[in-house]
Amino acid sequence: MADAPSDEEILAAVAEHLGRPGPAERLRLAGTARISRQPVLECTITRSVETRAERERSEPALFDLSRKPVYEDLDAYDATGPKDPRKHQTLELVQTGTVREVSCVKCTGGRQQCLKCGGRGLTRCEPDVPCPNCRNVTSCTKCRGKGGSRRTPVKPVPPRKVKRPGERVDCVVCETPGTACPGCEGRGHTLCPKCDGRGEYTCDRCGGKGHSTCGTCAGRGLLVKWRGGTITHTPHAERVPGPEPSPPLLLRRRLHGGAWRTHVLSLDQSPPEDLPASHLSVIEARLVRREGEVARRVSIKWLPLARVEIEEEVNRVFYVFPEGSGLSVVPVPSRHRVKRAAVVAAACLAALVLVLIVAAR
Ligand SMILES: [Zn+2]
Ligand SMILES: [Zn+2]
Ligand SMILES: [Zn+2]
Ligand SMILES: [Zn+2]
Ligand SMILES: [Zn+2]
Repeated sequence: MADAPSDEEILAAVAEHLGRPGPAERLRLAGTARISRQPVLECTITRSVETRAERERSEPALFDLSRKPVYEDLDAYDATGPKDPRKHQTLELVQTGTVREVSCVKCTGGRQQCLKCGGRGLTRCEPDVPCPNCRNVTSCTKCRGKGGSRRTPVKPVPPRKVKRPGERVDCVVCETPGTACPGCEGRGHTLCPKCDGRGEYTCDRCGGKGHSTCGTCAGRGLLVKWRGGTITHTPHAERVPGPEPSPPLLLRRRLHGGAWRTHVLSLDQSPPEDLPASHLSVIEARLVRREGEVARRVSIKWLPLARVEIEEEVNRVFYVFPEGSGLSVVPVPSRHRVKRAAVVAAACLAALVLVLIVAAR
């Protein structure tokens, strides 16, 4: 079915839908029916918009630029956009005569001294820490960790597991029985678990090497620099709203199965002349060429749709559209019926409120 169905075809489909086929009925309907054409439109314009930019670029040395296209004047470069304007495309180019190799200023020979350990590979650390059990506050109720008769200072030992933290043990500092914390036996401090009392540990940032590989030059010490151009094609999609009135919500899903007509236009093509006039005007109003627009894909899908009102059918209107090889008829409640239903609903609600008021007294 190439064109929109004729009035005769539409009325024949409605007559058949009403179970009264035949030419006589069609003729009778023709006298009472009102047909309005409301073709449906689904149209999306996708523009491929081109932008060009230049900037200084650099990559770690031995970076291969041989595959990149070269240019002298970026604005004059003849770039082909993507075949499909809906695709995003980025083209990286190299300006001739700008490629050079320079040493990296962020490092020495590709290495950077570790900032955490200053290149030593070791991090300083306290050799002993307050006892985790008594926090060096209640190490010994007698000497408080200061010792007594003993002359030699007592060195901390590794922290020990304490089953009963409140229990007191003999103090190794002042040698008083039953006065000391079980975690440190009165010492107040235990050996630092991080460095085992050595006072330093392997730097966790550089792993003890004292340096790290430079991220800027990837450890090569050299950079390739050049002036680079970028030509970007970005798709911008725009939905063209269909002409009013749009089909009722109840109908829209049914229309998916209709025999839609499709057209795809490129930048230099105009919409086909046989499109409904209402479609032509909304589409043409939006076909202005935008800044940077280098390609375009206009997808037009439209479906002939007729709305049929019949005098004797005040409660329904009939929508007719091509589907498969024939015409489909979908009845939709008329505005008259919807209004009446609303009036009935309002009346019911009023009655209910009245009943409730009476009941409440
Ligand atoms: Zn003590
Ligand atoms: Zn303790
Ligand atoms: Zn330590
Ligand atoms: Zn380090
Ligand atoms: Zn470097």
